[in-house]
Amino acid sequence: MEWYYAEADRKMGPVGEDELKRLLAEGMVGGGTMVWRQGMSAWAELGTVLPDLASSAPAAPGAATAGITCSQCGRRFPPGEVIKLSGTWVCAACKPIFVQRLKEGAALPGIAQYAGFWIRFAAKIIDGMILAVPNFVVMALTAILTGTVMKAAGMADAVTAVVAVLVNWTFQLGLPVVYNTFFVGRFAATPGKMACGLQVILPGGGKVSYARAFGRCFAEWVSGFTLGIGYIIAGFDREKRALHDHICGTRVAKKQRAAG
Ligand SMILES: [Zn+2]
Repeated sequence: MEWYYAEADRKMGPVGEDELKRLLAEGMVGGGTMVWRQGMSAWAELGTVLPDLASSAPAAPGAATAGITCSQCGRRFPPGEVIKLSGTWVCAACKPIFVQRLKEGAALPGIAQYAGFWIRFAAKIIDGMILAVPNFVVMALTAILTGTVMKAAGMADAVTAVVAVLVNWTFQLGLPVVYNTFFVGRFAATPGKMACGLQVILPGGGKVSYARAFGRCFAEWVSGFTLGIGYIIAGFDREKRALHDHICGTRVAKKQRAAG
């Protein structure tokens, strides 16, 4: 028997009865989840269509005694009475409001609001303007140094030109790496992202380590090498991931205001 089930406003499946059992055990579906199979005139709650299956669901690991906390009301429920929506637990009572607010794009506790292409683009421009200042200073300094000091030392023009270019390249490539690694590793956001209210996070909302922030700099080069396509795909991804977010397992989310 092939079943379909609803998650938020998406139709999932088809899944067999065994798979449905597994989803129940994991709490991905609950007694209140709307389900449908061929031959049914309308969608109905899993608990009414398959009461035996719903009640026989083994408890999710570790949840047997503790229960699962609804992310919205904070009350604890047995695993069969909560469902996972967009990666967070919601009880039957909170589900309609939760789904409604999810559709409206409202900020919900426990749900990251991923940042789209344009706001990230704006953050990039701000970072670019900040980095332009030291880049300009270094360019000016190397121009002066190569023009005066190296010439005075009797170096050939071609050599001084190469040295100047190498110094500038190294600086212009290295500075964003230092800048991104430090700010993302320390504050989860570069000044540009901070100004736009954005954060780089892990899928579960956790903090990005310095090592991951460092790796992400080079992954971002890959996004750049693809003529910007790596950035543009963020506009089409379900979790608004750019190519370098895919590579590094990161997300860029709107910063949530602390509750209360
Ligand atoms: Zn609740």
